Amino acid sequence: MARYLGPVCKVCRREGGKLYLKGARCFTEKCSVSRRPYPPGQHGQARIKLSEYGLRLREKQKMRRIYGLLEVQFARYYTEATSLPGRTGEEMLGVIERRLDNVVHRMGFAASRAQGRQLVRHNHVLVNGKRVNIPSFRVKPNDTIAIAEKSKKIGFIGAALAQAETRPRGSWLEVDKDALSGVFRSMPVRDEMNEPSVREQLVVEYYSR
Ligand code: SF4
Repeated sequence: MARYLGPVCKVCRREGGKLYLKGARCFTEKCSVSRRPYPPGQHGQARIKLSEYGLRLREKQKMRRIYGLLEVQFARYYTEATSLPGRTGEEMLGVIERRLDNVVHRMGFAASRAQGRQLVRHNHVLVNGKRVNIPSFRVKPNDTIAIAEKSKKIGFIGAALAQAETRPRGSWLEVDKDALSGVFRSMPVRDEMNEPSVREQLVVEYYSR
């Protein structure tokens, strides 16, 4: 599956807040949102009032970009969520949160979801002892996620773990920092998926219009 390859800081500026797409840099004063807190482009500083549609579109784009997904794949998650028993927005978030690249990031082994995706694609991640290199692989409760033995010396994993210590980790995840492994204990809890914040109800309204 393809992925976005353009400038990521512009994406944050377009969505009007930090989406934490670049790992450590996002927590420094070099962050573009701190330095230029307005949308990119010639008319970035113009005052534009968003329509109802515009608000929903921006929220949809924001959520899609946080998780690094392209439109077709993201829309598929929405369609799947509509057939699940709970609230569509929360179900959609839950399904996306279970992607392997996201879980690797949430466990702290990668500084961003993009880095998590790279670890998975480059065969550095094991799920229940087996190598899995599909970023969209869906993790189930009680699955064990680990960094492969010969990949444990990758420098940025240690830095990512140290950075992860500064932010709350979801209660559904258990991590053994020394062994570079963790267990995905249960389904993600919506109230704890608060960084960066998304209003999933607007995303549902966007697709159900
Ligand atoms: Fe760039 Fe990260 Fe700041 Fe977004 S949060 S603008 S990705 S440095």
